[in-house]
Amino acid sequence: MLKKIFYNNFWHKSFSKKKYINTSPIKKNTEYYPECSSKDLSKVINSACIGLSNFSDYDLIQRSQILKSISIQIRKKYKIIAKLESLDTGKKIKDAQNEILYASKIWNYASEEINTLKPVDKKFGNGIKAKIIFEPVGCVALITPWNYPFIVISERLPFILAAGNSVIIKPSEYASRSITYLVNILKEQNLPDGVINLLYGSGKKIGRKLVSNKKINMISFTGSTIVGKKIINLSSGGVKRLSLELGGKNSIIVMSDANIKKAVDITINSFCSNSGQACVATSKLVLDKKIKTAFIKELKKKLHSIKDFKKILGPITTSFQFKRIHKILKKNSMYNENVIFGDLTKKKNNYIFPIVYDNLPLNNIINQEEIFGPILSIITFENENEAINIANNTNYGLSAVICSKNINYALDISKKINSGRIWINQSILKNFPDLPIGGYKESGLNRECGTEGFKTYSEIKSIILKK
Ligand code: NAD
Repeated sequence: MLKKIFYNNFWHKSFSKKKYINTSPIKKNTEYYPECSSKDLSKVINSACIGLSNFSDYDLIQRSQILKSISIQIRKKYKIIAKLESLDTGKKIKDAQNEILYASKIWNYASEEINTLKPVDKKFGNGIKAKIIFEPVGCVALITPWNYPFIVISERLPFILAAGNSVIIKPSEYASRSITYLVNILKEQNLPDGVINLLYGSGKKIGRKLVSNKKINMISFTGSTIVGKKIINLSSGGVKRLSLELGGKNSIIVMSDANIKKAVDITINSFCSNSGQACVATSKLVLDKKIKTAFIKELKKKLHSIKDFKKILGPITTSFQFKRIHKILKKNSMYNENVIFGDLTKKKNNYIFPIVYDNLPLNNIINQEEIFGPILSIITFENENEAINIANNTNYGLSAVICSKNINYALDISKKINSGRIWINQSILKNFPDLPIGGYKESGLNRECGTEGFKTYSEIKSIILKK
């Protein structure tokens, strides 16, 4: 059955005659979505404008209660949501469950920290006082990718609502099941009509129209850097507020004093999780030359000990992405002798198992582009400056991992890496809602989560008063 779209607090049939099909990468499960039209968009935008004014009566306490209740519902329904997430993305059910449970923690965090948005009083000399107040930005277009649909929406929507905005959600055409379910949960909350809106369609068609619409005040976009740049252009006419969380080409730096066994585990988790389809995945191993032989021996031993990768890794989510990865590997075939682990020729049911390159030139595509698959490239260094230069030699700046027993040294290096999130002696899987996330350079604009996340979705006003 064709999915309905959501506005004015009800599900409605789309006016569009066009539709698209989404088939799960793991099961014969097919969903039909409308390719929404301009008429749908105008209904949804009108609803969001009404929702925005309705929401202005809700104070921080009421908003906090709603966020808490959503968090509880997500927790209660986490197994159902995880199933949908797994159908959408192909990820392992256990991984999906952990992600949904983490998402519920973010909603709870936003509920508990909402007082970040309380007015701030200031006093100056000569009887002058001031107030800083936080107001909603307006109607926010929230556009999400296919790799972590539920986590990505949960890192943004609680903060959008906490700040009193209305929202129009456009999920990825490849991953809409879990987000559709979330909208059903949101429908049951005490939110005024029009605050939550959802439509479907391709980025090139409805996505473009949504972000360039004059009534949209802010765009929260998570996806590739290429599309992020397009969105900057499309939004420039209206000087819209932007929060962009984009791609990455991230390094894991292993220093000579690191515990090799632990560093190998961290490396594997950080380049393989979600089959390498993670924006913060660290796919460039920057390794101290002194420990190269020992590290590679341990890495190969660990990878060879995994008898069936299919038990721990899902398929590449879309066949488009699967073909893209193979195209890159084929283009790079003059470096096939640099492959020290993995099989480049295996092409089965969209699965790609870990591949490790050694000693590729720094400007090679594998070292420069976001491949978005379980592919690691090893580059060695002889001194700290070299390690930092290799890690920073990219247009991106999203994340890094550092392994060293000397925490102060690792901290010092982390200050020299141009990235928004750095883990020391831990894999990229360890995350906390309290911490702001976002990218340097072409990895994005603005920050999500933490107290900064509330401010991202607020207009901040200074009022200066004198009696
Ligand atoms: P994508 O850029 O192809 O699409 C993302 C979303 O944008 C989709 O909903 C798509 O329909 C929409 N879109 C596409 N063209 C558009 C346009 N012209 N106007 C408006 N909307 C448009 O990204 P993807 O392939 O879905 O996701 C993978 C990418 O997302 C990777 O680059 C990954 O690094 C990035 N990502 C970043 C983060 C982060 O927090 N930095 C998190 C997850 C994913």
